[in-house]
Amino acid sequence: MYEFAVTPAVTQIRRRGVEIAEVAAGSLGAELELEPGDRVMSVNGRVVRDYLDFRFQTAGETEMVVDVRKPSGEHWELNIERDEAEDFGLSFEQIVPRQCANECLFCFCKGNPETARPSLFVRDEDVRLSFLYGNYTTLTSITDDEMRRVVEQRLTPQYVSVHATDLDVRAYLLGIDKERADISGRFTRRWCCVRRSMTAKSCARRSLIWRNCIRACRASRLCRWD
Ligand code: SF4
Repeated sequence: MYEFAVTPAVTQIRRRGVEIAEVAAGSLGAELELEPGDRVMSVNGRVVRDYLDFRFQTAGETEMVVDVRKPSGEHWELNIERDEAEDFGLSFEQIVPRQCANECLFCFCKGNPETARPSLFVRDEDVRLSFLYGNYTTLTSITDDEMRRVVEQRLTPQYVSVHATDLDVRAYLLGIDKERADISGRFTRRWCCVRRSMTAKSCARRSLIWRNCIRACRASRLCRWD
């Protein structure tokens, strides 16, 4: 049924780098002899996981070192200088969605007719897609690495499905145990600056699930929650 590649919900395994899909003629990328199929592995020593990473790590940089792996296995280290607003002219492979690890009672994927288009069967749970396209997540399988990324790269807004503010009900609806349904313990001070723009904010004010987050946030000197 699933024709699209998905990354398992709880894993740190990822393909290394991001693949270039297209290089615009006459662009900086073309001048650097980059080609479709090349993989950008890192920028200034920082690993690139997908095109969001590439955009974030190159934004505003006029001098940088970019590691590229050619399809032949050859490794290129490019020392690049560019004008401030100069674009690379590169398009990258699409982000492979992380898969949801819930079993919601009402999951729309279970209700799709068999003839529905394949993309409707993708059970994604991906903060990157939430930022890019407004996809909803439940944050029940978000990793610390992803949390850090949301904060560092300011991937906001994030669209979060709370489902229910009572933890027992939330766990029941999500089809998971309460420990995983309760995401309040995952929030740290770092989240103070991003939570304000999350769509769950209005729910958070009255939610038992989120109350601990607010308390921790208010205890922080970084807190700007009002
Ligand atoms: S979070 Fe629930 S509704 Fe959404 S894809 Fe996963 S199981 Fe389905």
